[in-house]
Amino acid sequence: MFTAHTAGGKRVNLLDAWSRPQLLQLQEREKLLCPVCGGEVRLRLGEQKRFHFAHKRETFCSTYFEPESAYHRHGKQLLYLWFQEQGLQAEVEVYLPSIRQRPDLLLNPHDNPIAIEYQCATISNEQLLKRTRSYWHAGIRVLWILGGSQMKRHAAHWMRLSSLHTLCTQFSGLPYLLYFCPEARAFFKCAPLIPFSTAAVFCHQLLSPLKEASLQELFAPPVVSLPSLRQEWSRKKKQYRANALYPYRKSKDRILYSLYEQGIPLSCFPPEICVPLPSGLAFREPAILWQYRFWQTAFGAEEEGACVRMTERLLSRQPARALPYLPSSYRQQAAHEYLQFLCLTGAISGEGEGVYRKQRSLFVPATEEEANACDEKWIHHALSLFPAEQIVTSRS
Ligand SMILES: [Zn+2]
Repeated sequence: MFTAHTAGGKRVNLLDAWSRPQLLQLQEREKLLCPVCGGEVRLRLGEQKRFHFAHKRETFCSTYFEPESAYHRHGKQLLYLWFQEQGLQAEVEVYLPSIRQRPDLLLNPHDNPIAIEYQCATISNEQLLKRTRSYWHAGIRVLWILGGSQMKRHAAHWMRLSSLHTLCTQFSGLPYLLYFCPEARAFFKCAPLIPFSTAAVFCHQLLSPLKEASLQELFAPPVVSLPSLRQEWSRKKKQYRANALYPYRKSKDRILYSLYEQGIPLSCFPPEICVPLPSGLAFREPAILWQYRFWQTAFGAEEEGACVRMTERLLSRQPARALPYLPSSYRQQAAHEYLQFLCLTGAISGEGEGVYRKQRSLFVPATEEEANACDEKWIHHALSLFPAEQIVTSRS
């Protein structure tokens, strides 16, 4: 940590301009105390690591707030300076006794405060949710910025998303995540997040060097390049068709197994399932699973021509992700987008007031080639559901 108190209550912030001799003198003269537990701390003035304080003895406090890695401390320092350069009042490691939290940074502490949590290590999902909610209860907004070293990208447009990171997802029309890497001295904005599966989430990975980054750009609503999304998604789906194998046990994946029971090779699954949707992040399962289950639950057993009313229960039957920053209606929004897509393909039609008519069964291509061609052809229906103000038509 960067802050301590003297016995007289004076705050010492190592991110202010202290020199090594000044600090050594201070330590000679004064007892330095932890602002949270009041336990004695000592200066660590290594060459490699940044100056910081550490508890002299293991305490509840030190197990809760420490250890911080050098990576974390360095990042926190750079962020502190950057937010100040952006004209915001920033304080480092302010302890908030009413909620027993100590955010890495507190912006605008006296007027509409925002806590910045710079998360470089793994904590439990429960811990992260609890911390987020306790800030909210205290009327403090909280922004999680993830350590750049935590980012799991495996291709130019694809990343893996852990459930912990999903909990940090911010929302401005479309969902996005912010990373910061002190070594690269840059933010990475991953936006928008459109999952093919948990292991493969489409996003643009936008790099903003600290020198050039602005608050406005960092928090601007994400835009999506439709040509990139079309190309990447089609490629991923083609790969999936070429390589996917049925689960060998029904219990492993009941919904996919039902395709098997109908004698449909997995390479020829209906092209109406597994499409990219603006709110696809709402559901925990891969796109192929939740979309096929949605179809089966709502229309699978119905005769052609039958009408189905979309009840709340039908709309929210899929396992949802925990997304604390997203509106609670997000699930229904995703289900509605999928219904709109199905209407565009002609599989169903809207009959008004939440009623849909099943026009036909899902299309089963005869060959993998035909399936790929249908995917190419129908993906534009899904892409047309992205809001006009959030698309760009150039590749990025
Ligand atoms: Zn302490």
